[in-house]
Amino acid sequence: MQQTPEKLEQYMQSCRAKSNVPEAMLRVVERVALWQWEHPVDPVSVPAVELTDADRHRQGVPLLPRAVFPVPEDGAARVESLMEALADSPLGETVSAMMGRVQRGELDLSAAVRAALLGDEAFFAPYAAQFPDAPRLVPFAVGSAVTPWAEAVARAALGEKDLTTPETVWPHGHCPVCGALPVVGDLRGKEGHRIHTCSFCHTPYRAPRLQCPFCLETAQGQLGFVDSPDLPGFRLLTCSTCRMYIKVTDFREMDRTSWPAMDDLESMTLDLAAMEQGWRRPTLSAWGF
Ligand SMILES: [Zn+2]
Ligand SMILES: [Zn+2]
Repeated sequence: MQQTPEKLEQYMQSCRAKSNVPEAMLRVVERVALWQWEHPVDPVSVPAVELTDADRHRQGVPLLPRAVFPVPEDGAARVESLMEALADSPLGETVSAMMGRVQRGELDLSAAVRAALLGDEAFFAPYAAQFPDAPRLVPFAVGSAVTPWAEAVARAALGEKDLTTPETVWPHGHCPVCGALPVVGDLRGKEGHRIHTCSFCHTPYRAPRLQCPFCLETAQGQLGFVDSPDLPGFRLLTCSTCRMYIKVTDFREMDRTSWPAMDDLESMTLDLAAMEQGWRRPTLSAWGF
């Protein structure tokens, strides 16, 4: 995440003012974002991996499918470090219960890191019952600890390549690097180029202006939106074919820049409104809830 603690503070203030996300959750997110900022991963440290050849990539095969992402050597240590950072957060008690399970050998953090890389939700399912106060704590903590690594692997795979330029419109929906679904999007430039951000490796990539990224529908009559006067610059782009939506921000006329994970948090009320209208979001929020 190329953001600063100062910017984080501004965003948190804005979230407190606008979103209906509980204060305890905001404090946890703030702590995690700070930890991620303090524990970056240098793409140079990522082991070399074989990438999909150019022909197959053009046809939609991800450059480095998530299933073959390298595993960080210090994965378990990273999760422990993040748990320590959360020890005096509102999740503190549940985090120390989680640490107890790790110490007793009941939760293998290395296996959890591999599961987070694979997106293996079944691995995490039993922990929901073990931590009823915070059923998503384990996948959240492990996923958050793995995020800087996933971002670095994607950057190493891409090298100098920029997937947000006009020549790189990617019509396949999923992330061109890892194959995961997009979590949010934003409009950029005079013409409003539509850039999606991957839910897993956070790579930004250019998507077609009018297309559902989930079922690839392009018929204009099927594509609509949900917005709210309380949240200028935010829109949920809906698709009547698959009943799903993606959140897209347009801050071009506003004095603000996009920080996808924080923008997502700030506009959670829009997600609730859409869900009440029967729209579904196929990914978790940028923060795993
Ligand atoms: Zn990705
Ligand atoms: Zn669709």
